[in-house]
Amino acid sequence: MWHPYASALGDAPLFPVVSAEGVRLRLADGRELIDGMASWWAAIHGYNHPALNSAVRTQLDSMAHVMFGGLTHPPAVELARRLVDLTPAPLQRVFFADSGSVAVEVALKMALQYQRARGLTGRTRMITVRGGYHGDTFAPMAVCDPEGGMHSLWAGVLPEQIFAPIPPAGFARPLAAADTADLADLLAKHRDEVAAVVLEPVVQGAGGMRFHSPAYLRRVRELCDEFDVLLIADEIATGFGRTGELFACDHAGISPDIMCLGKALTGGYLTLAATLCTDEIAEAISRAHGAFMHGPTFMGNPLAAAVAVASIDLLLASPWRDRVAALEAGLREGLAPAADLPQVADVRVLGGIGVIELHRPVDMSAVQPAFVERGVWIRPFGKLVYAMPPYVMTAEDLAVVTAAMVDVVAAEHPA
Ligand code: PMP
Repeated sequence: MWHPYASALGDAPLFPVVSAEGVRLRLADGRELIDGMASWWAAIHGYNHPALNSAVRTQLDSMAHVMFGGLTHPPAVELARRLVDLTPAPLQRVFFADSGSVAVEVALKMALQYQRARGLTGRTRMITVRGGYHGDTFAPMAVCDPEGGMHSLWAGVLPEQIFAPIPPAGFARPLAAADTADLADLLAKHRDEVAAVVLEPVVQGAGGMRFHSPAYLRRVRELCDEFDVLLIADEIATGFGRTGELFACDHAGISPDIMCLGKALTGGYLTLAATLCTDEIAEAISRAHGAFMHGPTFMGNPLAAAVAVASIDLLLASPWRDRVAALEAGLREGLAPAADLPQVADVRVLGGIGVIELHRPVDMSAVQPAFVERGVWIRPFGKLVYAMPPYVMTAEDLAVVTAAMVDVVAAEHPA
């Protein structure tokens, strides 16, 4: 096997996991790890949840999968209805995808096809911000930061997009005119070439775990309106409560024209993502071209849709705001001591996301086993040691996770 973002030479440690329950992963050797990663933002309710298990089982007894072309089914209908109800009002159409990367592919294709439908065939490029991450397939890679980002290896073969600076850091930072001046200049310069602005609202995830202000996002929305360019919000990591609002766009009170969802959509159970758009986009494409040209084999998988419906219902019935606020308080308190370490550049927390940024990349061969020895699952990346735990984690377990993060940085990562 060849694992994600990994060498195939078997030179990195792998930890066989045989079961998972609540916030704990059980390893083959019997050890239990408290999971600080929620399986990369997805397992917001923890593992092996009776309500989610039951949703999959019940759906399995009627239909595991059926093609979505020309057919529809209740789990997809119910899920689409919930997504339209929960997301900002202008988002009225739902297109299902099978992973986050594909949801971004779909969003980019929608934006391009919409501009073509309007006769604006020169609008073939995207503007995005540096420091972003949108997935691993070709179109999303092209809107990830090409310099020093995860996909810099692909420079020269990806479609060339237009990059504005990283949004200024700080969730609470007041907006200054200079913060969006470059973006405004780029929009003015390239207005006839640009189909959409694409970004991760409020939190840039895998590209650097940075936070920016809702005021910045509001200004981006205004600029998109001013230049008649679409706004695509990639909420694949931030969606379903992670930042303290149901969607990161809600902090700013704005709606994008296209929104991508994934990860926590199914509570981390099955692979499913969605791209939502306005009626205007869907209708313009349909009028001009008859169809939106995308249709993967496993689109709208009933098992995945059923568990997504159950996950959303579970979330909305839970005190998720209080839980995320408790995670935020616990992460702030627990990670604070790291700010005093000489090897640490920054400590930041927003909602259920806690980040220690180091001056230098970690040595995974030392740091990863050190977490496991401390009974905690944290998967650092580059200079970032970060946690986004399941919302159901207790204060006691969270304290173990944050103590391990501070301790491992101090003990295993030289200043
Ligand atoms: N966009 C964002 C913001 C993400 O965090 C990710 C996953 N890390 C993706 C897109 C890609 O999603 P997937 O891994 O499901 O393809």
